[in-house]
Amino acid sequence: MTIDRVGIESIFDNLSKSQMDYLHTISDNVSSQLNDYKKQNQEKAALKQLHKIVDKNNEEFNKKGSMPVRCTKGCSHCCNIMVHSTQLEVDVIFDYMKEKRIKVSQKRLEEQTKLTVPTYFLSEHRRCVFLDDQGLCKVYPVRPMACRNYFVVSDPDLCDTTKYPHGETASIMNYETFAMHNGIADHYPLANFALLLLTTLKKKYGFFL
Ligand code: SF4
Repeated sequence: MTIDRVGIESIFDNLSKSQMDYLHTISDNVSSQLNDYKKQNQEKAALKQLHKIVDKNNEEFNKKGSMPVRCTKGCSHCCNIMVHSTQLEVDVIFDYMKEKRIKVSQKRLEEQTKLTVPTYFLSEHRRCVFLDDQGLCKVYPVRPMACRNYFVVSDPDLCDTTKYPHGETASIMNYETFAMHNGIADHYPLANFALLLLTTLKKKYGFFL
């Protein structure tokens, strides 16, 4: 199942008109620039550029945020919840998997595609296929936009998915990053990351463990 466009209004109905207009401008700019890159078959390069802009923007967002972000290297609560991404993001991840010879579990991806948002966190199959034993992401430089925009502000202890299997964390997101992701989704529908990945890898040979 795909979600055509998240729609800024549906998420941020608490914002003022000028704030909404600002986010729409960001989204439209990304959408229009991506359109130009698509014409030159350079959309993967465009996404990698956007990753850099997003990371810088998120750094600033976290510096000036009123609620300190508690995420640290190796904590991985957000890698146990359902992620939505676009085919373009999965294509860039696939190139990285080829380059780094990364393989993933087909069985776990298949199990994940059967889950829904409410059942996801309770499933034994919830762990992202790219999460290693140290809690680090194997595709970190090219991870999906959604993974770049989930900031925990509650006590890090609550991120322990074994101790708190129902998910007790409080998180925030950067609206500007969300708007940029929305611009990508103008061209590539948002869908379940596990499903997109599974479908992509099934067409190739040698990427399953
Ligand atoms: S792609 Fe990486 S950051 Fe995103 S959920 Fe998977 S392990 Fe976590």
